[in-house]
Amino acid sequence: MTPDVLIVGAGIIGAACADALSARGLRVTVVERDAVGSGATAAGMGHLVAMDDNAAELALSSYSLELWRELVDGQPQRHEYSRCGTIWVAADDEELEAARAKAATMSAHGLECDVIGAQDLYRLEPQLRPGLAGGLLVQGDGLVYPPKSARILLARAVARGATLVEGDVVALEDGAVRLADGSRLSAGRIVLAAGTRCLGLAPDLPLRPKKGHVMITDRYPGFIRHQLVELGYIKSAHASDGDSVAFNLQPRPTGQVLIGSSRQFDTTDLTAEPGMMARMLRRAAEYTPALAGLNVLRCWTGLRAATPDSLPLIGPDLARRDVWLATGHEGLGITTSLATAQLLAAQMAGGEAGIDARPYLPSRFTEQGRAYA
Ligand SMILES: Cc1cc2nc3c(=O)[nH]c(=O)nc-3n(C[C@H](O)[C@H](O)[C@H](O)COP(=O)(O)OP(=O)(O)OC[C@H]3O[C@@H](n4cnc5c(N)ncnc54)[C@H](O)[C@@H]3O)c2cc1C
Repeated sequence: MTPDVLIVGAGIIGAACADALSARGLRVTVVERDAVGSGATAAGMGHLVAMDDNAAELALSSYSLELWRELVDGQPQRHEYSRCGTIWVAADDEELEAARAKAATMSAHGLECDVIGAQDLYRLEPQLRPGLAGGLLVQGDGLVYPPKSARILLARAVARGATLVEGDVVALEDGAVRLADGSRLSAGRIVLAAGTRCLGLAPDLPLRPKKGHVMITDRYPGFIRHQLVELGYIKSAHASDGDSVAFNLQPRPTGQVLIGSSRQFDTTDLTAEPGMMARMLRRAAEYTPALAGLNVLRCWTGLRAATPDSLPLIGPDLARRDVWLATGHEGLGITTSLATAQLLAAQMAGGEAGIDARPYLPSRFTEQGRAYA
């Protein structure tokens, strides 16, 4: 039977959309060329974080954090969830002022957060180097193991009758997709949730790959307790061009430490680069000097799908009939996956989502309602 919706890609976004669409009674098929939860989802740090660069980002991330807390409720260990909170570390008084401004925005949005001085910072995180000014503690942030969550979400959809097909979609056709083996799968509507690989099927989409490296250490339980991110991250992470690194450490429930983060444009080469790793480690050791003595086990890379305004594309693709988009989540797609799925499902199946869908509609990038500018 022809499905109502065919989703290309079973990363965290495709899996969350399959879950939300099947929950609304639609017949769903998901096509995945590799393993469920591979792609950027397997590379991501899994930090569930409220981000407030603009009102639309804050609305999407904070709504999604609520959905994550509902999803993991009662079974946090299945997702390897930890509500570790985030400390945005302020190196000096200027950054502490930025922390105060961030706290005002977040508190006004109902998020639990506190500006902390140096004394509290060192009490909470004694490994941080001396001389820092303080920080912003955001209590509701947390972390998951993203590939596991993707598998759980897809399994929920399959339990409602959704189908997972192993296949590489090589072309979009009218009301169908063509696979690499020459077969064709028809569907009422098609959702592109293939991350940066959406560009292979729809090259005009306003997406750009942004490469990132992540490293993981051996087990050092209690080395840090919160996700630690430099406040300067906001500047470097959203630089639209050039390579950047930022201090970003995560305490895995296993006792391991995840070390991020780097951003590079205009490469799709997934090779881990020793030069970039060295820059990341130097930056991390500037904030936590004892990190230099830890054993790093492994490094990997992934590609974030970045849009010109750093907001995702969620909604109908006006350039292609019956095609919908759920991509462009850049470095926040684990966090925003569940809200994305609710927004898409409300548009496709009717009903309400928790927030206004308009800031994320792909039509913001189209001219005269058709071609992408
Ligand atoms: C280094 C790094 C760190 C990150 N850290 C975080 C973080 O801490 N917190 C956060 O919220 N976000 C983070 N992100 C961002 C997050 O990982 C992504 O936004 C998110 O995983 C995107 O999910 P996706 O499902 O859209 O894409 P992907 O995970 O890339 O999934 C796409 C899927 O589609 C499949 N596919 C592709 N093409 C085809 C095709 N033609 N046919 C069939 N299947 C296809 C792929 O195999 C893949 O499984 C990070 C990203 C990176 C790279």
